Amino acid sequence: MSETKLHFKTPEELAIMREAGRIVAVAHQEMRRAVRPGVTTKELDTIVETIIRDHGAVPAFLNYPKHNSPNFPASICASVNNELVHGIPSARVLQEGDIISIDIGTVYKGFVGDSAWTYPVGEVSAQVQRLLDVTEQSLFEGIRASVMPNEIRDVALAVYSYVDKQGYSVARDYTGHGVGRVMHEKGLDVPNWWPRRAKERGWTSHRLQPGMTYAIEPMVIAGRAETRELADKWTVVTRDGSLCAHFEHTIAITNDEPIILTLP
Ligand code: MG
Ligand code: MG
Repeated sequence: MSETKLHFKTPEELAIMREAGRIVAVAHQEMRRAVRPGVTTKELDTIVETIIRDHGAVPAFLNYPKHNSPNFPASICASVNNELVHGIPSARVLQEGDIISIDIGTVYKGFVGDSAWTYPVGEVSAQVQRLLDVTEQSLFEGIRASVMPNEIRDVALAVYSYVDKQGYSVARDYTGHGVGRVMHEKGLDVPNWWPRRAKERGWTSHRLQPGMTYAIEPMVIAGRAETRELADKWTVVTRDGSLCAHFEHTIAITNDEPIILTLP
């Protein structure tokens, strides 16, 4: 994290971001219906890409570049069970009892919306449902902490302390981020934990200010916190094979309550 100047959005820019976020939310509404036993993750990807383009937007993830990796080849990240984030859509058929994190990003009139949700496939056990509920609630704990005069550290610790109290782990190597003209704005990371001596480690805890826009995205693991990347150079899985969940909204800081941009 660096001292890069942050981009505070004007009301006009926020209105465009709200539309970019609305398109993401419409796609998620469709996923709520489409995720079921028997569907492939590639089929879900096609549905989302069509919705995004029908709204005059572009999928933010498609061809997303990454150092030493091929560009991301799809419009959604589809991460099943022990896959945490960045799963690549494929011919994989979803089975009753699976869970799938679907991460969707759009670019609309030059601005980005970014939101992820983890869906149960058919019926899941009470234990699995609890992981989903805790992860979703931890996102809203982070949103609730996104008020002035708090700083990013307060948001991170709101997520972390809630998850920790419920007996789960947060993934430490992946964070939320500033969102704007690009999906990952430089200089603004939104972690789901906060280390001791953060400053010495180069972490910056920005004070929240109106016009800041960022994605909060808790990645919660039922087992241990460690993760690893698969040979495809994208898919991140839990190291111990345990289940994990991922929920994300893009929000805007105001003088009052934050605005969730990625709602229908
Ligand atoms: Mg996302
Ligand atoms: Mg994100």
